[in-house]
Amino acid sequence: MDTLFQRIIAGELPADIVYRDKLVTAFRDIRPRAPTHILIVPNKRIATANDIGDDDEALIGHLFTVARDLAKREGIAEEGYRLIINCNTHGGQEVYHLHVHLLGGRPLGPMLASPIS
Ligand code: 5GP
Repeated sequence: MDTLFQRIIAGELPADIVYRDKLVTAFRDIRPRAPTHILIVPNKRIATANDIGDDDEALIGHLFTVARDLAKREGIAEEGYRLIINCNTHGGQEVYHLHVHLLGGRPLGPMLASPIS
């Protein structure tokens, strides 16, 4: 069964797409946690970070160069931003189609809500 993101990539579900090429699609998160919140998604489905193959190295690198370019385009590169990949239950992954969150446009605070102790 297609994931939500595969349906967005295929144009079957609406999304605010900000970038697309033959390897990746980027669109704004439907529930933005920051003024800029973009999801950068491989066009081919990789379920989680655990499922990245050795032959996906170029694709994974491309996710990051697209994130870099979008950060610049959004005007958040200089002040800074955060890139997040959630994996499985403890990582808080909601959609099982690998994606990089690009978040910025305000100070994002500490990496996690609270320290370990
Ligand atoms: P995850 O927790 O899997 O790393 O993040 C999934 C993200 O997808 C969440 O931030 C959530 O708001 C976003 N999301 C879920 N459904 C949709 C949707 O239908 N459209 C868009 N644009 N984003 C979605």
